[in-house]
Amino acid sequence: MAELRIVHIEIVSTGKAILSCAYCEGKGGVPSNRRREWQEPCPVCGGSGKVLVEFEEEPFVECSFCEGKGGVPPNRRREWQEPCPVCGGIGAKPIAGKWRIIK
Ligand SMILES: [Zn+2]
Ligand SMILES: [Zn+2]
Repeated sequence: MAELRIVHIEIVSTGKAILSCAYCEGKGGVPSNRRREWQEPCPVCGGSGKVLVEFEEEPFVECSFCEGKGGVPPNRRREWQEPCPVCGGIGAKPIAGKWRIIK
């Protein structure tokens, strides 16, 4: 399996895996847009810090678009991020086949 620097993956059964949420770094919350001192539930994992993913093929590989971070800075405002459009915010994705985030 390719080395994943950030995302922790646990295969729970055939075709199902639990990944640590890269977008909130497993914390379940993300800073809201303007006020960084309080947080909103993570839009990727719904606040649990973990994401259940249904997939067809292993291995999971680090998402090269967000470099495994799960978030990409919008063009102008680098101080906060949006979930990565490629991996959906989980920082990794199966190498092939269909997959989806169940949560
Ligand atoms: Zn999250
Ligand atoms: Zn990504």
